[in-house]
Parts: sequence; C-alpha cells; structure tokens
Amino acid sequence: MYQQIVVLTGAGISAESGLRTFRDQDGLWEEHKIEDVATPEGYARDPLLVERFYNARWQQFHNGAIEPNAGHMALAKLEKEFTGELLVVTQNIDDLHERAGSQRLLHMHGELTKGRCPRSQQTFLLTEPFGPKHTCTCCIPAQRLRPHVVWFGEMPFGLDRIQHALDSCDLFIAIGTSGTVYPAAGFVDTANHHGAQTVEINLVEADRHSQFQYHLQGKASEIVPKLVEDILQGKILSN
Ligand SMILES: [Zn+2]
Repeated sequence: MYQQIVVLTGAGISAESGLRTFRDQDGLWEEHKIEDVATPEGYARDPLLVERFYNARWQQFHNGAIEPNAGHMALAKLEKEFTGELLVVTQNIDDLHERAGSQRLLHMHGELTKGRCPRSQQTFLLTEPFGPKHTCTCCIPAQRLRPHVVWFGEMPFGLDRIQHALDSCDLFIAIGTSGTVYPAAGFVDTANHHGAQTVEINLVEADRHSQFQYHLQGKASEIVPKLVEDILQGKILSN
C-alpha cells in the first residue's frame, strides 16, 4: 500500500469541465496574445485590459456553467479516505479542486479567485470582479491588487513544499499535463530519482521519451476514479 502520494494536475482535467486551456497551440488565450495578458510587461502596459481578461475568466465560474468533473471528485475522495499522505499540486488557476472538496492543495500557478498586494505579496479573496476599488489593507497608501496568477517569467509558488513532498513520495501521478513546461515537467524525474512509481494520465498517446513508468490514456474523468478505487483498495500499479 502506498504511504505518500503526490498528484500533479494540469489543463487537461479542467478542459473536461469545459474550460479552454491556457496554452493553445496558436499562442492565443481566448483571442488574446499571451504576452498581453499573461506577462508582467503586459500588465505594466495595460492593467485594465489584464483585469478585464481575468474578470471574464472569473465570471465563467460565477455563472455556474463550469463544474468539477468526476476526476476532481475522485481526487477529493482520495484525500478523504486515503490513510497516507497526499498532496495535490495543480497548475490550474481555477477553483474546481476546491469545489470538489480538496483541501490539501497547492496552486503553483496562483488562483483566479484571489488578488495580491504587489508590495507585501499578501493575498485577498475576490468576492466580485476586479476593479479600481480592489486595494490591499496591508499598506499605506493602499496598493492596487494584481491578479494572483503566475505569469510567464515569474516563479511558481510552493516549489520548496513540492520538492519536499516529491522527495519522500512513493507514487507520483500526473493528470492532464503537457509535460513540457518546467519546473513541473521535472517533477517526474525527482520522483523517479527517489524510487517512486510514476504514472501519467493523458488524452493523447504518451510521448515515447516520457519519463513515466506507467501511461494511462483516456479521459481523466474516467481513469482517475478507477485509479483512486485501486489505491484505496491497497493495489499497487504493475504491468
Ligand atoms: Zn499591501
């Protein structure tokens, strides 16, 4: 039976809930150039455009159209029933894991539902779309909050905690990630190095250079619930 599991989730699991992925092939995100809406330079150039962009993403969640799927639900069940240690690391900025019930969760690329003080780095929950009145309460004068999202060229959050979890995990599961964006793409190497079993779940056929020991091809909403049941029953992955 596994003792310590690290799960990494990416755009693929949110896509099954109907969210368009962050990195489309054409370098556009909802018709915007990535460099305009997902870089510190883009924000410095036109903060209102960036706020409008994240507000539109934020609204998608508040109109009830996007819901957690069976993959998110299964990971919340794993957290509740697994007797060992579990950490879910997500590259997604949506709150679908939380809404499914996950609590031991690390948003390495930030959260759409929060704003951050650019001076103190303190985060604030957003109860309505971004606007000029969203200022921090930690500074005098109060600072305008920026989206609590990791942009290109910025350092992801929680890397020390993730590294620590990977160093001692015996199972690493990557779900719906492209495996091409570092540092997340290197997590499998760390897990392999420490002797963990490693498994990837993806819609597309596994890259033949993949570092994972096991590949499960198909929808996360179908494969993750089965894998979670196996883990809870004490089964170990084998060929
Ligand atoms: Zn502040």
